[in-house]
Amino acid sequence: MADKNVLIIGGGVAGLSAAVELANLGIHVELVEKSNFLGGRAIGYACKAIENTCVKCGACMVEEKLQSAVSHSNIKILTGSQVQNISKNHRFTASIQQEPLVIDREKCTNCGLCLDQCPIDRAILQGFSKNNHPFYAVNKERCLYFKDQSCTICKDECPETAIDLEKKASEHTIEADAVLIATGFQPFNPKDKPYGYGRFKNVVTGLELERMLKQSGRVKKPSGNKLLQKIAFIQCVGSRDVKLNHLWCSKVCCGSALRMARLIKERQPETEITFFYMDVQTFGKDFEQFYKEVQENIRMIRAIPGDFYEMDDQRLKVNFVDNPTHETIEEIFDLVVLYVGINPIEDIGTLSRMFKIGPDEFGFLKTDDKGISVSKTGVFTAGTVQGPMSISETIAGAGSAVWKILKYFGE
Ligand code: SF4
Ligand code: SF4
Repeated sequence: MADKNVLIIGGGVAGLSAAVELANLGIHVELVEKSNFLGGRAIGYACKAIENTCVKCGACMVEEKLQSAVSHSNIKILTGSQVQNISKNHRFTASIQQEPLVIDREKCTNCGLCLDQCPIDRAILQGFSKNNHPFYAVNKERCLYFKDQSCTICKDECPETAIDLEKKASEHTIEADAVLIATGFQPFNPKDKPYGYGRFKNVVTGLELERMLKQSGRVKKPSGNKLLQKIAFIQCVGSRDVKLNHLWCSKVCCGSALRMARLIKERQPETEITFFYMDVQTFGKDFEQFYKEVQENIRMIRAIPGDFYEMDDQRLKVNFVDNPTHETIEEIFDLVVLYVGINPIEDIGTLSRMFKIGPDEFGFLKTDDKGISVSKTGVFTAGTVQGPMSISETIAGAGSAVWKILKYFGE
């Protein structure tokens, strides 16, 4: 199969897993990723092992796939790149636009000086894995050079002359025999919910909590390193929501949040955690035992809080209706974590039109009952572009997509 090429759109868990499997079979893979870093959202997830015992959260598998993909000779990777258009004759021909690679991969030593010296918050982005090289990227949305050319500090200070702020975008043409769409999901943005997200410093999303744990190993209050005593986890933010017409359950948040809560209790036992939920979605065959253990240390409240208020010391006042008594209770928390729903990505419409795959009723890319797009045309989907799923389900789904691609090739 050395004469076959597969174009994979998306460098998250699904895209990386499929790329490695295809590459191991001798198939050439061209992997196109929109952002500057590979690994998707899951590369920012913390390992949730308890007392060094694996709890099968899947976070390490993302790192493993990333490492294999970047070192595989059959995989060519284009980051900061998007498919502009695609046509099919006997094969697919895709035009790819690649953003300027401001930091030179060959020259950069990942010393981090550019990030230290940059005067603007988030103008230099840092990855979550050293397997993403370079580990840093200039964020054009925030960088002063791209605004009004008023700063060139990182370029001037870089000891390896690795930064070229004038670098131009480039165009590439890729020929492929099949295409796999693995563009992942979009987390629900809770800014319009009455929880103060984006306004109150100590309200974060579950994804932000994961990143905090991954980078520093501990939970801190974003407002400062003051004592952290009480954390509230709020489930189903933007999921199963009639007003938003987001009726689906995001499926993986309950398990992920409960594992996270258990990890925090292990590392910071002085912290009290309250878990607000509608229903707890079961996951895995060991769920009952796991759930029993979790309830010994985590306070579970079957209620979704109403409005939040920020106090002068930046703690949060949370109102909720107590289920058995129907009393309204007001309680103060140091940190609130919103577990937001899994939504289709914003450009799903563009992809759907480009590849002529209809989105399903919720806006995810249409799948058959086995979770893999039916394809006679050579276009396949894998991962959370199809709908909510866990890391291990995503990896298994990527394997199924590879099998379908081989079948399409007549193998
Ligand atoms: Fe790379 Fe230069 Fe930044 Fe160091 S200062 S991380 S070498 S770009
Ligand atoms: Fe930061 Fe200035 Fe470099 Fe832009 S040019 S990334 S603002 S140091």
